[in-house]
Amino acid sequence: MLQGQVRLKRLHHRLSAELARLENRLRSTETGSSQELSAYDNHPGDLGTITANRELDMGLVRHLRRRRDDVGRALAKIDQGSYGRCDRCGAAIEPARLEAEPEAACCLSCAEHVNLP
Ligand SMILES: [Zn+2]
Repeated sequence: MLQGQVRLKRLHHRLSAELARLENRLRSTETGSSQELSAYDNHPGDLGTITANRELDMGLVRHLRRRRDDVGRALAKIDQGSYGRCDRCGAAIEPARLEAEPEAACCLSCAEHVNLP
């Protein structure tokens, strides 16, 4: 239990740092874009790469935010003493599942039945 908490806190910290880094990068490409665009006038291929990278980053940001929220919820469950219990059916979450995914909010069979967005 305690070990899971340490892992989750580290994970939360790492995800937050990664998010901040990506959000910074997205902001800087946003503000500098008009100048960069003219510089890349003769290289339409590079422009496509920049746009593709931005979309990749934005997808990653969404993914990281969701994961960080999951980790935050798992930490709250530790505080409430309900960590390791399935949110949906209340059964104990498989230890192997928690090992692989410490932020898991429900057991394996519930996770298979819920269509997560
Ligand atoms: Zn369940």
